[in-house]
Amino acid sequence: MVNLDSLSKEEGLKTHLQPVERHFKTEGKELSCSFVLGFPYIFANGNAVKLSTPTVFENDVVWTPLEETVEIFGKAFSKKYTVDTTAKLLKTDSPLAVSSSAKKPSSSSVAKSSSSVAKSSSSVAEKAAPLVRKNAPAGSREVRNIVIDPGHGGKDPGAIGLISNEKDIVLAVSKLLEKELVAMGFHVKLTRSTDKFIQLSERPQIANKWNGDLFISLHCNAIDGNKARKKKTKGFRIYVLRDPESEEDRAIARRENKVAKTYGDKNSKEELSPLDWLKIQARLEQYKQASYTFTEKVIKAYEGGKISKMGSGAGGAGFMVLVGAFMPATLVELGFISNPEEELYMNSEKGQKDMAKRIAKSVQEYKKALDEYLKTLSH
Ligand SMILES: [Zn+2]
Repeated sequence: MVNLDSLSKEEGLKTHLQPVERHFKTEGKELSCSFVLGFPYIFANGNAVKLSTPTVFENDVVWTPLEETVEIFGKAFSKKYTVDTTAKLLKTDSPLAVSSSAKKPSSSSVAKSSSSVAKSSSSVAEKAAPLVRKNAPAGSREVRNIVIDPGHGGKDPGAIGLISNEKDIVLAVSKLLEKELVAMGFHVKLTRSTDKFIQLSERPQIANKWNGDLFISLHCNAIDGNKARKKKTKGFRIYVLRDPESEEDRAIARRENKVAKTYGDKNSKEELSPLDWLKIQARLEQYKQASYTFTEKVIKAYEGGKISKMGSGAGGAGFMVLVGAFMPATLVELGFISNPEEELYMNSEKGQKDMAKRIAKSVQEYKKALDEYLKTLSH
């Protein structure tokens, strides 16, 4: 994939991104390109070009497939672009740089331009984006790296039940889930594998650095109230980052966000502002379909289990922990720790194993679905 922002700037083109419409334009005297993020087509000087993979928006950078981009730019600027695989100056896992035979940008100028892109964008992007990279971004490549995020930890116990803390349940299930996924051939990373405190904003950063394909944050739900209310309110629910449609979902996100803040998470706030939503709009759109597909798979895999779904089983809200993830990301509320029956089940070995197995199965099903989708693109 090519970092289209950097390449455009190198060639003196002006770029515009409209995050809400997901529309991207790069324009100049020689070349005018426009496309919609997430679609495998690009309009270059009036001609539609089919791309091998969809365009994507990741790490606040627009990426387009290498081969076609180099051809389009090559034609427009009468240059022959070649990929220099030996350049190690760019900060990336698979450092690659583009050089052109007509005008060979020095390695430092490439590094400079890519870091200026990162600087002008949101602070979520930690590293300077490379100009070219080997791997396609999450959601448009095979699913391999799964990041499991056991919620809370250390001084932050999460929700507190009669006999247990949320942080211990989710860690135990995460470890079992890791085992299941590794046995299926996935690469797995846990944001924490011990009882330690991690800031909410740090968790997706770990996933980004590790090149995750899917981010799953595990939690237990809870409500306040009398015995009868606690007994009545139960079930699992899976969330994507989306403007909440119900007050109930908004409250759940507020609780998860607030807990972190209470225990010293400085970057966390209870609710996302309209500006926050706008800033992440393009990224959310990018991963929406994949996140929804995974959500469907989890709901399906949970069918017939001890803990049944709460309502439709799925919802959307402004969970801080999902905000920084540059990959399909979901938050699973395994069940209610405030419900005595579900708390007992979530603490039992049988229950934990069963929940881990069901989520692992949904990851496998999600991979299958994405593989099918990628196959249709290559035809
Ligand atoms: Zn939680």
